[in-house]
Amino acid sequence: MGALPKRRISSGRRDRRRTHDKLSPIKLVECDTCAELKLPHRVCPNCGHYRGRQIFDVDEI
Ligand SMILES: [Zn+2]
Repeated sequence: MGALPKRRISSGRRDRRRTHDKLSPIKLVECDTCAELKLPHRVCPNCGHYRGRQIFDVDEI
């Protein structure tokens, strides 16, 4: 038996399957410490804080 589908998938069913393929838009949240926009659940690249704790030092010159 060949590994071939028995029936052609209709365009409607194919399109319904592909509704999940879309990319979600990039979301940004305001940092609690410095109010810069940052990715959620990530250490802030601007001030190095996450959930009120300093994760790394930012050397600003
Ligand atoms: Zn910050």
